[in-house]
Amino acid sequence: MLNKAFAAAGAAAWGGLPFSELAADMTPEAIAKAEQLCPNPRAVLVAAFPYYAGERPGNLSLYARGRDYHQVVTARLNTICDILRKKYENEIFLPAADNSPLPERQAAWRCGIGLRGKNGLVILPPYGSYVFLGTILTDVELELPLRTPSPGCVGCGKCLTACPGGALGEAGVEVSRCLSDLTQKKGELTEGEAALLKAHPLIWGCDTCQRVCPYNAAPALSPLPEFREGLVDALEGADLEGLTNRTFREKYGDRAFAWRGPAPLRRNLKGRGK
Ligand code: SF4
Ligand code: SF4
Repeated sequence: MLNKAFAAAGAAAWGGLPFSELAADMTPEAIAKAEQLCPNPRAVLVAAFPYYAGERPGNLSLYARGRDYHQVVTARLNTICDILRKKYENEIFLPAADNSPLPERQAAWRCGIGLRGKNGLVILPPYGSYVFLGTILTDVELELPLRTPSPGCVGCGKCLTACPGGALGEAGVEVSRCLSDLTQKKGELTEGEAALLKAHPLIWGCDTCQRVCPYNAAPALSPLPEFREGLVDALEGADLEGLTNRTFREKYGDRAFAWRGPAPLRRNLKGRGK
């Protein structure tokens, strides 16, 4: 039943694991938050949704060009939750995408979805690392498919060498040095941060460790229309001119780059003289 439901929802792969197993990758605070959302959590389902839309020039990260993945993935997972809610009345099924206390990548790797990239990403051939992850948290002890943890990538090290922020090492990702985070930072940047961004081709996000990865040399296109159609590939100063926070949200509220409002985008554009 779940195989069919995940396929109908557009997931390229899915798995599930007991919450107690995933808890090994969570802080006590994250566990407490998950228990607030779902008292007696029993299982976590996790799924991958491809988003690659082909090569197109632009200054936004590829993940941010289509419709906001938080909204899209959550809505798609909700179709599965609806099926489960019918079967298990009065039980909890909570869909989420990148906005829950659950460590999605670890959940995916524990379920054997794709490979463990040294760039800290889930790599799912033939889609490469261009996949969004989403989870469903439940208090039902579901029957889960067999799972073998994901193997590592080939370990070529290209992502480590190419990372402009020096955020990648053998020990993993140092998020505070990641340029993707820097582009989303609020307020003023330090001189060093501004210089890093000036030399960077994107004003939102950083695709460098994905671009150089051999698994992303010829990724399969996403079958999901939300990530293939109506893309915003680039933003220039004129696109943001005169927009208030409200009108910015009216124009771009269905995009993942909109959550911080127009200020960081304007700052990042200004930093490169646009
Ligand atoms: S997104 Fe960019 S800065 Fe962040 S780890 Fe990858 S290459 Fe480094
Ligand atoms: S660039 Fe190489 S080391 Fe990095 S994630 Fe891809 S295959 Fe692994």
